[in-house]
Amino acid sequence: MAKRDFYEVLGISRDADDKAIKTAYRKLAMQNHPDRNPDDDVAAERFREASESYEVLKDPQKRAAYDRLGHAAFDQSAGGFGGGGFGGGGFGGGGGFSDIFDQMFSEFSGGSSEGRHGRKGADLRYDLSVSLEEAFSGCNKDIQITVSATCDDCTGTGAAKGSKPVTCSQCGGHGKVRAQQGFFTIERTCGACQGAGETISNPCKSCRGQGRIQKVETLSVTVPAGVDTGTRIRLSGKGEAGLRGAAAGDLYIFLSVDEHPIFERDADTLYVKVPVPMVTAALGGSIEVPTLSGQLTKLKIGAGTQSGRKFRMRGKGMPGLRGTKTGDQIVEIHVETPTELTQEQIQLLKKFDEKGNVSPETEGFMKRVKRIFGNN
Ligand SMILES: [Zn+2]
Ligand SMILES: [Zn+2]
Repeated sequence: MAKRDFYEVLGISRDADDKAIKTAYRKLAMQNHPDRNPDDDVAAERFREASESYEVLKDPQKRAAYDRLGHAAFDQSAGGFGGGGFGGGGFGGGGGFSDIFDQMFSEFSGGSSEGRHGRKGADLRYDLSVSLEEAFSGCNKDIQITVSATCDDCTGTGAAKGSKPVTCSQCGGHGKVRAQQGFFTIERTCGACQGAGETISNPCKSCRGQGRIQKVETLSVTVPAGVDTGTRIRLSGKGEAGLRGAAAGDLYIFLSVDEHPIFERDADTLYVKVPVPMVTAALGGSIEVPTLSGQLTKLKIGAGTQSGRKFRMRGKGMPGLRGTKTGDQIVEIHVETPTELTQEQIQLLKKFDEKGNVSPETEGFMKRVKRIFGNN
């Protein structure tokens, strides 16, 4: 059976925002929850589909990948919700179910996969464009990003100097509280401490108890040779700071390579069109061809080279990313017809023309035209 589109599963439009996604998922999950629909395979499948769709669409990175590549984006990653556990065996004895359940409700209460203390920082995205020359040789780029960083004054605890966070009285330090809802008991993140398990009576003034502050950071990004539009660079730990000392997220650099006025690129192959004077094309000779390294390289062309003829220069294309083979450069010849001739040149060309058939292709073409359209 073909896999259904994630947006279709949740019944939302492709531009739905995070809130709409969450609302749609929540509704489906509640309706089709296995505890409410025992031995109902249809509901089980709907629940599984909704969970799988939500798992992807709630995450900006995964969502972007899905928008671009569809299901193919996750063919490798059978983890998370999509990875089975719901097979034919029902839910009774399986170990996977309670994990999913916990995760589902921690999502609802605004948390994510946090531990008792704090929450891992969010991943950030930065779009960086480079020139084709920079993609060819590799480069270093300084970028400025606004990140929330750990507050230095309280070293991320959120408590003012000289004071300490105290164990939360609502949850007794667990970070979670239990509540009865409908058919089942659910665990929610504690509202009093936001899941941290402790509260701050005397908050740090610099960060107002958040444990992190906004700051502009300059980062140097090493762009390796051979990158293409769509290449991503991950800077581990350079995303948002975690809440109260938890691990920081990652920063993803999304690269795009600018168009070039002379060169065109297709993967690791470069294409360049080079004009050649008519006389050189007729007599043969050596022409100079630009390469992305900035140097001119000599290329020999034979006598009678026609416009549109292509030459391959091996190893003069884009370097392969991560040590793969360097591509080739394809040179396309454009024979240039002379203009602004002197009287003498005109006379010489007329004389040249009287010498007989030197353009077999033109002759052959006219013969074919006559054959097709008759003899007039
Ligand atoms: Zn609490
Ligand atoms: Zn602070």
